[in-house]
Amino acid sequence: MIYLDNAATTALSETAGKAMEPYFSDLYGNPSSSYRFGQEAKRAIEAGRQALASFLHVSPREIYFTGGGTESDNWALLSLLGWGEKSPKHLLTSTIEHPAILRTASFLESLGVNVSRIPVDAKGFLDLEALENALKQSENTTCLVSVMAANNEIGTLQNLQEIGSLAHRYSALFHTDAVQAFGQIPIAVEEMGIDLLSASSHKIHGPKGVGLLYIRKDLKLPALLHGGAQERGLRAGTENVPGIVGFAAAAREAFSTMEERGRKKLALRNLFFKRLLEEVPGVEISGVNPLEKREADFPAENTYSSLLQERLPGNVHVCIPGIEGQSLLMLLDQKGICASSGSACASGSLDPSHVLLAIGKSHEVAFSGLRLSLEESLTEEELEYTVEAIKEAVEKSR
Ligand code: PLP
Repeated sequence: MIYLDNAATTALSETAGKAMEPYFSDLYGNPSSSYRFGQEAKRAIEAGRQALASFLHVSPREIYFTGGGTESDNWALLSLLGWGEKSPKHLLTSTIEHPAILRTASFLESLGVNVSRIPVDAKGFLDLEALENALKQSENTTCLVSVMAANNEIGTLQNLQEIGSLAHRYSALFHTDAVQAFGQIPIAVEEMGIDLLSASSHKIHGPKGVGLLYIRKDLKLPALLHGGAQERGLRAGTENVPGIVGFAAAAREAFSTMEERGRKKLALRNLFFKRLLEEVPGVEISGVNPLEKREADFPAENTYSSLLQERLPGNVHVCIPGIEGQSLLMLLDQKGICASSGSACASGSLDPSHVLLAIGKSHEVAFSGLRLSLEESLTEEELEYTVEAIKEAVEKSR
């Protein structure tokens, strides 16, 4: 099997798996119990919180564990309902967010919250002028801006610093869904003016069903789950101790090797684009084209950030007009290749990709997307095998 769907989920790392094991068996105490056996579990949670906070350069008091990226996104957005009791409420988000944001936004709209969906350009970058205009119009409202750090389909990286400073200029709060970016690219929470940030464990070789919401310390968010005093009373329920321990262990690995892995992935990403353009007639790169600029065009220091070229290091996304993405995936599956047409949450649905439509692709082309999300362990032989399989599948489909 060649697994090229790491944006959907990743394999559990051996280290994370080993770290979790004792908390599934011997160390099963309830972290809320006051005896030493329970407090041992509590200590494991707090060590995890401390580690995750240190990777984001924030305080452990600002990290709240959740049941994953979707829950963190829901919490961040729903919190708007509890702020500024009397003033009208306004949510500004982009047209290319994950359904965890877009559907929550629609739900808020049904409750009377004013929602603006800010467009993006052909590469997937947020229209900052449109954002500023919307912010101007929403002065005197309680306002939250929610824009993803990295798009899960086409990998575009937003200018978080600019978005954060615009939001603050108009007294709005800034949430970023960093589920795809966390552990992959540097995120400077304070510098970028991020007030709320969502991350998820299973995208970085941690276990599924656990994530975090960073909440800036001076913000008072309403509780998401009501009950016990866990997570400072804001997210009640006995904690997922093994999950949190595994998340922290996976994050430790992800952050300590981020740049080394990232550089390998982006070299593979660029090679993939080059080979697909050479071998598969009609292929169009979706979003930022990293081949447009050669490395030599970038700052001499060749920093990891500059080499990323505003695209996630492991993200390859192309459209092959005339080819139906879903049937292409089935043919690739027969060759042992796991890939995706976009987000896993949307697969099986007959709707075209909302992200491809938002970057200006036609309805027909928006059905022809192919996303390959890579790991650094991919070999060039596997890459060539995949290019050949795509080429054959496209010929067959045509
Ligand atoms: N946000 C983005 C950008 C994602 O890619 C995903 C998962 O694909 C989520 C949110 C949801 O995260 P989780 O699967 O942890 O609920």
